[in-house]
Amino acid sequence: LNAGEFILQNIWQFKDTVALINGATDEKLTYGEMAQEAMNLAVSLVRLGVRRGDVVAICAENRREFWSTVIGVICAGAVVTTVNMIYTRDELKHVMGITKPKYMFCSPLALKFQANNFRSLEYVKKFIVYGDEKIPNMLSYKDLALAGPAAKLSQNVKYEDFNVVDVEGQNDSAMILYSSGTTGLPKGVMITHLNILTATASTVERPKFVSLTITPWYHTMGLMSHLIGFVKGTTTVYLPKFEVELYLKTIEKFQISQLTVVPPVLVALCKSSLKYDVSSVLIIASGAAPLHKETILAVHKRFPNAQAVVQGYGMTETTLVVTFNSSGEKEGSVGQVNSNTIVKIVDPDTRKVLGPNQNGEICIKGAMVMKGYIGKKRQDDFDEEGFFKTGDIGYYDEDKYFYIVDRLKELIKYKGYQVAPAELEAVLLKHEAVRDVGVVGVPHPSAGEVPLAFVVPQPGAETTEVELQQFVAERLSNPKHLRGGVRFVEAIPKTLTGKILRKELRKIVKSTKS
Ligand code: ATP
Ligand code: MG
Repeated sequence: LNAGEFILQNIWQFKDTVALINGATDEKLTYGEMAQEAMNLAVSLVRLGVRRGDVVAICAENRREFWSTVIGVICAGAVVTTVNMIYTRDELKHVMGITKPKYMFCSPLALKFQANNFRSLEYVKKFIVYGDEKIPNMLSYKDLALAGPAAKLSQNVKYEDFNVVDVEGQNDSAMILYSSGTTGLPKGVMITHLNILTATASTVERPKFVSLTITPWYHTMGLMSHLIGFVKGTTTVYLPKFEVELYLKTIEKFQISQLTVVPPVLVALCKSSLKYDVSSVLIIASGAAPLHKETILAVHKRFPNAQAVVQGYGMTETTLVVTFNSSGEKEGSVGQVNSNTIVKIVDPDTRKVLGPNQNGEICIKGAMVMKGYIGKKRQDDFDEEGFFKTGDIGYYDEDKYFYIVDRLKELIKYKGYQVAPAELEAVLLKHEAVRDVGVVGVPHPSAGEVPLAFVVPQPGAETTEVELQQFVAERLSNPKHLRGGVRFVEAIPKTLTGKILRKELRKIVKSTKS
């Protein structure tokens, strides 16, 4: 039961449909090309000696070869792992040390960033380079995946003759993905073939939208949302990176109807006054980090024809979103739970199950939940009933709509109260002089912890610490007041998927404490 077979079978039906368009260069990739290269590659990899369970890494920006590589490696019975190209030497060594890949696909751009660091990965036997460049001692993707006189494969593998390598769907990993490393070092998440089959096969039919994405493909959100779109034959426009003007231009040029974004992208779009025709946008889908009500209101102004701003909630460990607010009803809610998943909210201290409108830890069980973290004992992260303990705090209302409050680890413990930094951030973003903000707890001798805000001021606007403290005090109850003060900074450290790196903010607090 190899998930690659299912994916291949589905995309082959759409051979002549365009799967991806690079919005910056107009380069197109059809499903036929994607599937053909994936099959050729799978055969080449097996010839090279890749065996079931071997780990194969991809380190590249969003580019056309990425998907054939993912699908080809899975079809070969091997395990794909995808790496953030701009990791530092230490970050790269950490994540690669978790999986120790034997082969690594990389782009010329990744080579430029990482050439020195790649040398220290002694377990990688061969590097395979994308694009046209020939690099000494490295294989070329074209030689392994493309047919033709210049390639080593003289002809394309026929779909009818192609066989995937057999695996045990429930046990064999198809991918090992790294969590974002927002709260600590990234963890290696084992996603099985069955996890992927469940995720790709269970999603409901989607209307044919032309969608635009900029989320990085190495991260679960970009990776899984595209695989799901592919098995349905959708056409997606992508941009290698986010840049406000290019993004707006692309919407106008391709008459984009659906945007897939992370919250900071929406904030940036709303704060920009560039004039482009965005009337084609009907649906905006957001995930990965909290989306504040204030932002949703601003989005409706910026995109007047958008019927809904829809949100999902999920994590690397659950393969896909586990709740989804498909109608956009109850704005601010991440929606209701998928049919193949069970969610419970428990008291983090007593582990008792809680009812509606009570904050507690979100725990998840279901066919999309990972097998476990590589190198970690399962019982550390799953409870006795087999639920994965997410470390996120949230609640559901009478209609079983879920709301995410914050991460358990990030709650600020002020006296007996627990203050969610995300709530304070949402309030501060309403202030016209605040362009961006991140809140953390700082130690306090008698109260335990108090909230402190790092604020990026809006250019041209003026404000002071006292004014912002008052602004919060007028809107939130006493324990949430900004007793730790305000620090003005140039930028808030974030992951590429828009999550505030509060651990970095805490480092700044520590290093500047007198
Ligand atoms: P790490 O586990 O390494 O610290 P991470 O948890 O950020 O990093 P991901 O798996 O990329 O790694 O992110 C999942 C987390 O993102 C969730 O556990 C949750 O905290 C947050 N998240 C996802 N979707 C939403 C959402 N719609 N609203 C608020 N938070 C969200
Ligand atoms: Mg996490």
